[in-house]
Amino acid sequence: MKVAALIILGCLVWEGIAKPGFPEQEKDPDFWKEWAQRTLKNALTLQDLNKNVAKNIILFLGDGMGIPTVTAARILKGQLNGQNGEETQLEMDKFPYVALSKTYNTNAQVPDSAGTATAYLCGVKANEGTVGVNAAAVKSQCNTTRGNEVTSILKWAKDAGKSVGIVTTTRVNHATPSAAYAHCVDRDWYSDGEMPDEALQSGCKDLARQLFENIPDIDVIMGGGRKYMYPRNTPDVEYPGDKKHNGTRKDGRNLVREWTDRMKDKKGSYVWNKKDLVSLNPKNVDYLLGLFEPGDLPYELERNKETDPSLTEMVDMAIKILRKNERGFYLLVEGGRIDHGHHDGKAKLALHEAVEMDRAITRAGLLTSIYDTLSVVTADHSHVFSFGGYTHRGNPIFGLAPTMSDIDQKPFTSILYGNGPGFKLVNGARENVSAVDYNQNNYQAQAAVPLKMETHGGEDVAIFSKGPMAHLLHGVQEQHYIPHVMAYAACIGQNKNHCRTSSGSPSLSNISPTLALLLSVKWLLC
Ligand SMILES: [Zn+2]
Repeated sequence: MKVAALIILGCLVWEGIAKPGFPEQEKDPDFWKEWAQRTLKNALTLQDLNKNVAKNIILFLGDGMGIPTVTAARILKGQLNGQNGEETQLEMDKFPYVALSKTYNTNAQVPDSAGTATAYLCGVKANEGTVGVNAAAVKSQCNTTRGNEVTSILKWAKDAGKSVGIVTTTRVNHATPSAAYAHCVDRDWYSDGEMPDEALQSGCKDLARQLFENIPDIDVIMGGGRKYMYPRNTPDVEYPGDKKHNGTRKDGRNLVREWTDRMKDKKGSYVWNKKDLVSLNPKNVDYLLGLFEPGDLPYELERNKETDPSLTEMVDMAIKILRKNERGFYLLVEGGRIDHGHHDGKAKLALHEAVEMDRAITRAGLLTSIYDTLSVVTADHSHVFSFGGYTHRGNPIFGLAPTMSDIDQKPFTSILYGNGPGFKLVNGARENVSAVDYNQNNYQAQAAVPLKMETHGGEDVAIFSKGPMAHLLHGVQEQHYIPHVMAYAACIGQNKNHCRTSSGSPSLSNISPTLALLLSVKWLLC
């Protein structure tokens, strides 16, 4: 108890220094030295490596969450709490191990979300635009699919008897989640209604169909994408008067009804709104299909809190269902719309998505233990998003740099994009941002080059990890290394020789449950 009390006290002191303004104690060198010594003491405990078998494995994927996005989201989180922001810790910042991930696709220096998803889910780098197939498959060429399929860690986990789940804020057949279950040469083949006749005639299957057919008993599926599950012209349950949300399937199948029929005797529940989701008792649900929108879910900043669940609420229910399996679970959580906000040049939407994903990471941490759960947070790729301009400590993250441009004598926002829709000329010159409301949700930050959609960035992204074998995610790594580590830690997939001792029991752990609990408490409190 004494140790716990000290930890709590330590956390309170830490929180106390993170108030707005320039804290007086920061002028005292001892303040920094003592802080560093506390951090060092914490780091020294990591010499006892956690070599437990990971019963549970969770991957949090921030789509487009490059390192500038992580830093800016951290500052935003702090400022939302009335702090300066720079000294704030995101939940992912508390993970003890960090590595860099090289994100290029086999055929692209700056990658897309499909080829990268194949890397961090299937363990194999691939071409951009393709999911669940190796680099011998050619984008959009149906006849290059067969023989080039690669399976994902979600399937390896399912085959090992674990429960598996997918939770995303995009449509459930979007690039990121689809690499977990599909083998498709084109990430845009959401339903057969989006596929060319030639591909259908050659026997290629759409992504929505593959979601239910390839791994038929995925235990938890939550996100958007209802319209791809229903026959063409079927009105949507939530927006029956709006034709653009009608079903898209040409084959006349109703994939939701097929799923509910199949799950009738298996404690399966289908929900399409928040009320029905939160009223579920996870004890009575073994399989959950939640489709909350015809397409992607709304941005967190625009979400209707009565009708649409947050990512955190979905993750909460997913873990409560999945953890009932005594053999553990694999869960893929995607903060999928960080990417969309950036593509639109709307940094405020993107950063609030990142903060929400961090909340979901906090919730998952409360529901699991580092003793038996390996949690990994990473991104598929970055964006050409940046913030700078010699802003002062505590400067509002969406605010202006403190000086005018010394070329055109106009102010500029700290956040800028290398390219995108925010490029704007007024009378042949750069727009004066002080004449517009750069704080509104839909403000498009200025970009150097005009493009309808801002592009991905090519630099490395971070990998944060905690739990069993988290230390293996270290250094600068290729992106496809990630699922190999997660599988190794969980004793699933291709590399299991280390998993059994001569007695046949799981390998011995080097970290005690008590120490794990204490570390968990510290991470939760700080
Ligand atoms: Zn993108």
